[in-house]
Amino acid sequence: MFWNDLQLEDKVAIVTGASRGIGRAIAIELARRGATVVINYNRSKEAADQVQTKISEFGGNSILYQADVSNFEQAQNLVKSTINELGTLDILVNNAGITRDKLFPMMSEEDWDIVQDINIKGTFNCSKAAVRHMMRKRSGRIINITSVAGQMGNPGQTNYSASKAAQIGFTKALAREIAARNITVNAIAAGYIDTEIWDVVSEEIQEGILQLIPLGRKGEPEEIANLTAFLASDQAAYITGQVIGVDGGMAMM
Ligand code: NAP
Repeated sequence: MFWNDLQLEDKVAIVTGASRGIGRAIAIELARRGATVVINYNRSKEAADQVQTKISEFGGNSILYQADVSNFEQAQNLVKSTINELGTLDILVNNAGITRDKLFPMMSEEDWDIVQDINIKGTFNCSKAAVRHMMRKRSGRIINITSVAGQMGNPGQTNYSASKAAQIGFTKALAREIAARNITVNAIAAGYIDTEIWDVVSEEIQEGILQLIPLGRKGEPEEIANLTAFLASDQAAYITGQVIGVDGGMAMM
C-alpha cells in the first residue's frame, strides 16, 4: 500500500473553514481521493466557490455550506443537512480557526472570547452533532487542526494558545470516550504554514519564527492535507487520541 493509493471513495467529509488556507487544501485532497466533501465557509463565499470549481475540474464531488461554527444551531444544521443531503457522515475535520493576537495586558475580553468561540467552541459544536451520528453507525473519523502554539505557547497569543491547547485536551478525552464505537479522534499540530492567517503578523516576527524551525522553511497547506487524508483513511484505523506535529521539527513533543 502506497500513500498515493489511499482511497476515500464512498466517504462523506465535512471540512470546516474550507474556503481558504489549510481547510481549502484539505477539502481538495479529500475530494481528490474520492470523498464527497462539504466545503464549509463563513464569510468567503467567492473563495469557497473557487474551491468547489477546483474540485469539479478533476471530477470530484462537493457541496457548499455556509455556517458560523461558533453558533451551536448553525453547526448542528451543518451536520444535519450533510446527513440529509448525502446520506451519512464519515469524516469531520475541525479546521475553522482565527487569531486575535495581542500582548496580554492589551488583550480585551472580546479578543479572548471570539477566539475561544470559534476555535474551541466551534470544535465542540460540530463534533457534538457529528458524534451522535457516528456512534449510531459505529464508525467515524474526527480530525482537529490544532497548533504548536497549544503545545509550546506563543507570546502575543495567550487566547489562541489556550484555545489550541483546549483542542488537544478535547481530542484525547473524546478519543477515550468513543473508541469503543470505532470512532477515532486525532489532532494535527500545525507549525508555521503559509496561509493568510499570517497577513497580520509583522515580517520581523515571522523571521523570528523561521529561526525556530529545524527544517528552515514554512510549511505548505498541502502538507497538512496529506496527513489529514491518511488519518481519515481505513489505513489509520488503529491511531486515536494522538497529536501529530506537521511543523518542520518546531515542537518535537
Ligand atoms: P486562514 O487562511 O485564515 O483560513 C481560516 C478559515 O477558517 C477560513 O476558511 C475561514 O472562513 C474559516 N473560518 C473562520 N471563522 C469561521 C467561523 N466562525 N465559521 C466557519 N469558518 C470560519 O487560516 P489557516 O491558516 O488556514 O488556519 C486553519 C486552521 O489551522 C486554524 O484552526 C488555525 O488555527 C490552524 N493553524 C494554522 C497555522 C498556520 O500557520 N497557518 C498553524 C497552526 C494551526 P471564511 O473566510 O469563509 O470566514
